[in-house]
Amino acid sequence: MRFDLTPAQAAVRDRAVAFARDEVAPVARAADEAGAVAVHLVRRMGELGFLAGPIDPAYGGSGLDHVSFALVYEALGWADSSVRGFLAVHGGLVGLCLRDHGTEAQKRAWLPRLATGEAIGCYCLTEPEAGSDAAAIATTAVRDGDGWVLDGTKIWITNGNLAHLALVFARDPGIAAPPDKPHRQICAFLVPTDTPGFGRSKMPGRELGHRASDHAVIELRGVRVGADAVLGAPGGGFRVAMGALDHGRLGVAAGAVGVGQACLEASVDFARARRAFGRRIGDFEMIQAALADMAAEVEAARLLVYRAAWLKDQGRPTTRETSMAKLFATEAALRAADQAVLIHGGRGYSNAYPVERHWRDIKGLQIYEGTSHIQRIVIARELLGREAAGAPALG
Ligand SMILES: Cc1cc2nc3c(=O)[nH]c(=O)nc-3n(C[C@H](O)[C@H](O)[C@H](O)COP(=O)(O)OP(=O)(O)OC[C@H]3O[C@@H](n4cnc5c(N)ncnc54)[C@H](O)[C@@H]3O)c2cc1C
Repeated sequence: MRFDLTPAQAAVRDRAVAFARDEVAPVARAADEAGAVAVHLVRRMGELGFLAGPIDPAYGGSGLDHVSFALVYEALGWADSSVRGFLAVHGGLVGLCLRDHGTEAQKRAWLPRLATGEAIGCYCLTEPEAGSDAAAIATTAVRDGDGWVLDGTKIWITNGNLAHLALVFARDPGIAAPPDKPHRQICAFLVPTDTPGFGRSKMPGRELGHRASDHAVIELRGVRVGADAVLGAPGGGFRVAMGALDHGRLGVAAGAVGVGQACLEASVDFARARRAFGRRIGDFEMIQAALADMAAEVEAARLLVYRAAWLKDQGRPTTRETSMAKLFATEAALRAADQAVLIHGGRGYSNAYPVERHWRDIKGLQIYEGTSHIQRIVIARELLGREAAGAPALG
């Protein structure tokens, strides 16, 4: 058993850490306050080869293995979950779906543009009445000649207002499916966002975290797509969606390791500098215990993430390992962020210090790409078998 990174993986990590430290972290607070995506960082991620990290160089990608891509996510999560979230949707969910299910023509049409950031991707699964229960989506795809007409509403779509390409999941009622297997009607479509009938707007309300992300409501009204827009097979869309989440969850888990690491480092620095009762607060045992727990949990999360990524690189099934990594890493980072705010005292309650932003952002990681409840269901299913765990199809 080896725990060392290869020289190539270490080089990617060093590039990602330098980018996160020198270019992402310095603008994270301003982007959070402005509530705007730092668009210049998208272009930079293209230049650095991150936007299409695991995509084959023949399509403009960098051919990174999944361990390397996890290291990129970890570095970005350390600096800003909004930037990491952009990449996870664009490069992880959309890019990897194209890689895994796209025809040659679909890959040639989109992957090189996604690799540079000339085109931005979004992933449209969630609806007002279907989140965790993704098989319950109501958006329809009705056959019309050679193609389909899409109608429905998607919410919480990261990158949705910026995107040029939307990966849309919709139900074709013309596909025969047993009443207890509604997911067999779901199809995945590649929809250029300038297609007539494709409407979008900002999500209403102000988000708790990820404020430098773009979250959209997508309204599909009579959107016509051709047969060449189907990703995978008609009726195979649920498989595409779940395969994407299997990749995506690893990215979220790696990002959570970065958040936990950032909270730990900030807390250690603060505990060394801040004095109370004539001593450094780091001299108090309760602070030391909190730091020790944070360090142990972040390291355990990191090992789960790297192992799941390594298994993916071996082409082995990772559903259980990825869900375990996502569950543990996000919950550990949540505890780390909570402790970090507490250790910073009143300062932790102010956006003058980044722990406040990490504390707000980490709740998002606990929710999207399958909440912690859903990860537990996935893990239990793997332990007990699908029937015993008794859960519906999961998003
Ligand atoms: C910042 C952010 C970005 C997002 N980006 C995207 C995106 O780009 N694309 C996209 O499609 N979606 C996106 N989402 C949506 C996200 O994936 C959903 O919010 C998530 O899947 C939960 O769905 P829901 O909000 O409908 O909650 P619900 O599914 O209604 O769940 C509500 C509660 O019930 C629990 N629950 C549900 N079913 C069960 C069960 N069987 N057993 C136990 N508990 C259960 C859930 O865990 C949760 O606690 C994003 C969300 C956020 C917050």
